[in-house]
Amino acid sequence: MSKKRYTVTSALPYANGPLHIGHITGAYLPADIYVRYLKAKGHDVVFVCGSDEHGAAITLRAKKEEVSAQEIVDKYHEINKKSFQDFGIDFDIYHRTSDKLHHHTAQEFFKTLEGKSVFSKKTTEQFYDKKYKQFLADRYIIGTCPKCGHDHAYGDQCEKCGSALSPEELINPKSTLSGNSPIKKATSHWYLPMQHHEKWLKDWIEKGVLDGADHHDTKQWRSQVLGQCKSWIDAGLKERAMTRDLDWGVKVPVEDAEGKVLYVWLDAPIGYISATKQWAADNGKNWEDYWKSEGTQLVHFIGKDNIVFHCMIFPIILKAHEGYILPTNVPANEFLNLEGEKLSTSRNWAIWLHEYLLDFKGHEDALRYVLCATAPESKDTDFTWADFQARNNNELVAVFGNFINRVVVLTSKYWDGVVPLQNELDAYDKEVLEKLESFPNKIGEAIEKFKFREALAELMNLARLGNKYLADTEPWKLKKTDEEKSETIMHIGLQIAASLAILSAPFMPFSSDKLKDLLGLKNINWNDAGTNFVAAGHQINKPAHLFQKIEDDKIEKQIIKLKANKAFI
Ligand SMILES: [Zn+2]
Repeated sequence: MSKKRYTVTSALPYANGPLHIGHITGAYLPADIYVRYLKAKGHDVVFVCGSDEHGAAITLRAKKEEVSAQEIVDKYHEINKKSFQDFGIDFDIYHRTSDKLHHHTAQEFFKTLEGKSVFSKKTTEQFYDKKYKQFLADRYIIGTCPKCGHDHAYGDQCEKCGSALSPEELINPKSTLSGNSPIKKATSHWYLPMQHHEKWLKDWIEKGVLDGADHHDTKQWRSQVLGQCKSWIDAGLKERAMTRDLDWGVKVPVEDAEGKVLYVWLDAPIGYISATKQWAADNGKNWEDYWKSEGTQLVHFIGKDNIVFHCMIFPIILKAHEGYILPTNVPANEFLNLEGEKLSTSRNWAIWLHEYLLDFKGHEDALRYVLCATAPESKDTDFTWADFQARNNNELVAVFGNFINRVVVLTSKYWDGVVPLQNELDAYDKEVLEKLESFPNKIGEAIEKFKFREALAELMNLARLGNKYLADTEPWKLKKTDEEKSETIMHIGLQIAASLAILSAPFMPFSSDKLKDLLGLKNINWNDAGTNFVAAGHQINKPAHLFQKIEDDKIEKQIIKLKANKAFI
């Protein structure tokens, strides 16, 4: 296997609130599984993320809570960073866009692009609050949604129907600062004319061709990603504002730009680059290897609301700057619903990660497992507490855990925890060993194709193979009648258990570590999996349960809490 270099990013979460399971399944868990696998295979990977600490949503929240924007982002940066850590999302760096290094990096980008005449500057009439003497970007303006009639739609989005909006589309717009009807006032901004980039973007997205050369395999891109890009291109690309009138963010680094900051397009994704720079400085690496070297694979993990941002706008910015690589894949997920309804922060219809981690201590992998098994990879999916409980109890405990428990208990009971000899193999043993050998590749190939559900299903199939093998051969009975045969079966059973310890690591790192401890395995790696690598005579540890059943009352409590806290807006 040749060693490759990867830069893997997860969408930067806004530091204005905690994370819920929709965020996790969209951009963080799949990225973590992918990165853990790549690292286990020995590739050179940097996995970057961080808090997006700018934008109107943050300044607005600060105003509402009567604290500074800095206090808001400091608070949620720490909460989210800790939640990620506790959940085993193992970023190489979790940076912040309020960091000086990021401001400098984003400003350099702007200056380079401005110097290459990539932007057009235009003066337009925009909503303005006379009382507060402020332009009303995005969330500073509220009104009735023209699509669904919801009367609290924001200037950039309606949270009820999910439509992307512009302030002009709102019916009866009001300033969220004064509550007054805004006036229109002239202001100048820098725009990115996306239509100038249409030709190469079309080739790149539809054919995977960049500057006349093959760049990536479009068949590996998800259909919803290609579909959304295509519909944008077909509708005709337009110019997008790259700056905003706001006092919080990365200042536009030119004269006569007082009170203007870079808009999210030119701020958040550049955060991936600044995070890599910080990580490289901290670890004696060269950040340019990860962003400017042709051989490096750049992969962005995002939710579907970020597709155009990462497949069109950011690539335009990178290419226009020159010297940067473009993503080889953007495996965006669809949305996860909760108990049949759309997840919503404003309606508090969500399972918050930091709360789950408190309520279900020791069950981190159960949520990782269920969110991966039901991930919205090709269509929206639904999380229900009943399904969560069933999958934990019927799959993790009854299949995976049961197999491990049988192997460890039998080895402990009949062989004092010492791996028995492998004696003569019959046809069934050979068949099982052959199947075992095929699993690392099956799981690895599915992960490389971003088919995480399929990869996880294969992992469970390996546990099922082990269960069936033991159930069919009943080594506990053979122990009295055919000692040699029972030894061989347990020897093979232990190899399956050891492979499960390795292959489960990307999906369920906590349980993988526990299983490795249980089996006394040290210094093992992905390439050992599938082979007969645990030697006879090796001592394993005392039996302990790998997974715990989740009882009804725990689930009922969660459902009551969810319904009680639901806000009606
Ligand atoms: Zn709406």
